[in-house]
Amino acid sequence: EQKVVLITGCSSGIGLRIAVLLARDELKRYHVIATMRDLRKKDRLVEAAGDTYEKTLTLLSLDVCSDDSVRQCIDSVKDRHIDILINNAGVGLLGPVESISMDDMKKVFETNFFGTVRVIKEVMPDMKKRRAGHIIVMSSVMGLQGVVFNDVYTASKFAIEGFCESMAVQLLKFNVKLSLIEPGPVHTEFETKMMEEVAKMEYPGADADTVRYFKDVYIPSSIDIFEALGQTPEDIAKCTKKVIESSRPRFRNLTNSLYTPIVAMKYADETGGLSVHTFYNLLFNFGSLMHITMSILKCLTCSCLRRRTISPD
Ligand code: NAD
Repeated sequence: EQKVVLITGCSSGIGLRIAVLLARDELKRYHVIATMRDLRKKDRLVEAAGDTYEKTLTLLSLDVCSDDSVRQCIDSVKDRHIDILINNAGVGLLGPVESISMDDMKKVFETNFFGTVRVIKEVMPDMKKRRAGHIIVMSSVMGLQGVVFNDVYTASKFAIEGFCESMAVQLLKFNVKLSLIEPGPVHTEFETKMMEEVAKMEYPGADADTVRYFKDVYIPSSIDIFEALGQTPEDIAKCTKKVIESSRPRFRNLTNSLYTPIVAMKYADETGGLSVHTFYNLLFNFGSLMHITMSILKCLTCSCLRRRTISPD
């Protein structure tokens, strides 16, 4: 019996890779409904899907920001039966808060938070009725730890983490599983799109020092971090497949072991000072970089921290 998997945001990046990986499953265990806002952007997915296209992979249009689009899409699925829902669609937002309009901030929440909630709300009642199903939510390490100049994006991911943490308890009673995937940096268009935005930005309302910290300190270090620690969308797809196929899927799934110390810091110091000062030193205090790198490495050697991630292999 094939499982029906519906994925949002499949025209690029992680969503595209999850769709293709599941559609290509050797045992043909999945029927993938790959959805995207604009079907004119289907070419890359169709090409990557190869001969699975229109066999184990079909396409539907779905805009997570529209009630009508979400309802129509789910209504067009046979018996509205979805076994696995993967909420992947998301947008980023970078920059000094002073120069971001309230409307742009709301758009991020509209997609990352309300978009995810909108799709879950449409699919979950049928899962609860059937006492079966698995909901996956693509969060981020930024759903667990704030990152400078990602203030609003981070907040949107924190919001969805809080939502899921609350939902998971109720869903357990209905035998519906809920899992968060929490990648660190991943090489996708997400990164490119944000860098393009940054290049266009004019920073109205932000003072010269803030703009300098953002452009000349944060951006270069962010590029270095992506290069040094970035995973591929395939890695995240493999992690997601593992979560789906686990007999007892975990609620939280960090994908990048290099990030577990960052998350651990938060729980190691309840005053919050350790996280704030470590990030401060990483960004502004080059002199103590060595010291911090050493303490992170020390944490990394602790196997209990490493075990906390899910690996692609
Ligand atoms: P991406 O930009 O390639 O993919 C995001 C997809 O969401 C795109 O296909 C986009 O068209 C789609 N989308 C945006 N708004 C939509 C809407 N209203 N309706 C339907 N689809 C919409 O980037 P990605 O890295 O593959 O991002 C996928 C998810 O992974 C996002 O939720 C993102 O927050 C998360 N994530 C990304 C990274 C990273 O570093 N790239 C790290 C952690 C988490």
